[in-house]
Amino acid sequence: MTIPRVRIAPSPTGPLHIGTARTALFNYLFARHVGGTFILRLEDTDVVRSTPEFEADILEHLHWLGLEWDEGPAAGGLPERGAFGPYRQMERRELYRAAAERLLAEDRAYPCYCTAEELDAERRRLEAARLPSRYNDRCAALTAAERVRFETEGRRPAIRFRIEPGIVAFDDMVRGRVEIDAAALGGDLVIVRADGTPLYHFGVVVDDAAMGITHVIRGEDHLSNTPKHILLFRALGYPVPVFAHLPLILNPDRTKMSKRKSQTAVKDYIAEGFVREALVNYLALLGWSTGTEEEILSIDELVARFDTDAIQKGGAIFDRQRLEWLNGQWIRRLADDDLAARLAPFLAAETAAGRADRTPSTAEIVGLLPMVRERLPVLGAIGDLVDFLHVDALAPDPALLVPKRWDAATARSGLLAARDAIEGAGAVGFTVLALEPALRGLAETRGWKAGDLFMAIRVAISGRTATPPLFESMVALGRARTLARLAHAADLLAG
Ligand code: GLU
Ligand code: ZN
Repeated sequence: MTIPRVRIAPSPTGPLHIGTARTALFNYLFARHVGGTFILRLEDTDVVRSTPEFEADILEHLHWLGLEWDEGPAAGGLPERGAFGPYRQMERRELYRAAAERLLAEDRAYPCYCTAEELDAERRRLEAARLPSRYNDRCAALTAAERVRFETEGRRPAIRFRIEPGIVAFDDMVRGRVEIDAAALGGDLVIVRADGTPLYHFGVVVDDAAMGITHVIRGEDHLSNTPKHILLFRALGYPVPVFAHLPLILNPDRTKMSKRKSQTAVKDYIAEGFVREALVNYLALLGWSTGTEEEILSIDELVARFDTDAIQKGGAIFDRQRLEWLNGQWIRRLADDDLAARLAPFLAAETAAGRADRTPSTAEIVGLLPMVRERLPVLGAIGDLVDFLHVDALAPDPALLVPKRWDAATARSGLLAARDAIEGAGAVGFTVLALEPALRGLAETRGWKAGDLFMAIRVAISGRTATPPLFESMVALGRARTLARLAHAADLLAG
């Protein structure tokens, strides 16, 4: 039995996209599940839009997600892996040239001398007549003399592949039997531009064949390309791989997820503090499910359970709330040291942005975890929860210090009374368990609602109306700073 070989072939024309990451993950899960080989190839023939920075972004974030490829280009100081290289299309142009020459020699392809202007004019003409866009076959049957005449005019030909009429059919692993009429493919297909660079349809087929790809797993947006590829595989005498087209990723309004409408770069999710376990888990569920209630699955569990039969046909809605929920679940499951290490850069960023005066050590962060762990939809939410602990001088907004049912004088006496009660209780009274009854008792004797008193205290110690639990927050702040902040807040309300 041949060992399955799958690949992803991103174009480095933008940062790693959520959709590409999902495709990469499904290929990875398939390969690992069946003991196959997962290959990374870079389709960098769009020289205008491809950049080394985008390439680095794609490789870095695939790696970050844990989607290690078995074969791929040299990158990040590491050597090329695999025996089918090079793995960048711009380094494989000789192969495309040779394959195109073969098609020309067999008259499966021909030189097309049409200029961009001529093709454009024809496209506009068809558009105006409300006809589908299609090549007009002008160069399909040129005589040798006509070719020579075009050449002497200085025209450089593109190479066009003859699309023969007929139905192209294939069995898609997800969609089942697919049949597409070749008449709908837009006519003979340019496979090599006049400047010698291959078009996507051609490069992908030559490379998939040369790299021994057995299964092509990619987004449904490529479904209409597949018949073109099948015709090219056949014309070149290559075996046709098995295809699996993954459902489109949709916005909640069922429009296609796009850069314009939604956040699509993986790096932006990482920057917000989504953890890799949750992103991988979530991406796996974009078009696939275990068929059970189980939703929280590690990458190894996903590999074990992955089954192409369970890939859905219908679009997969990208539900940010569900992603946040999963992220929170994974944050709860991380070991203390691991979570603290992942939070550290976010806390350093708080300091850099001036929202904190110092960055806690990893050991200090571990100490804060019981208070914050269940309150983090994303790691980036940490600053709002704990910055108040890491600022030297807090300047709460006096308006926030006064709860709705109170006036400034009541707030001031409430804060001072709380301060005195805490001071009077001594160090032994400064625990989560002791603070609550002491302050509730104070509110009761003064005829205040405990909630009002607690709100004034909360704002006094943190500057915020929402914090982790109040008594935990006070203990984390420490007795001396709590007393000082209560006194300072009362001063702000004086006069
Ligand atoms: N470069 C193509 C893309 O990123 C590859 C598509 C394919 O897998 O064939 O969409
Ligand atoms: Zn032409």
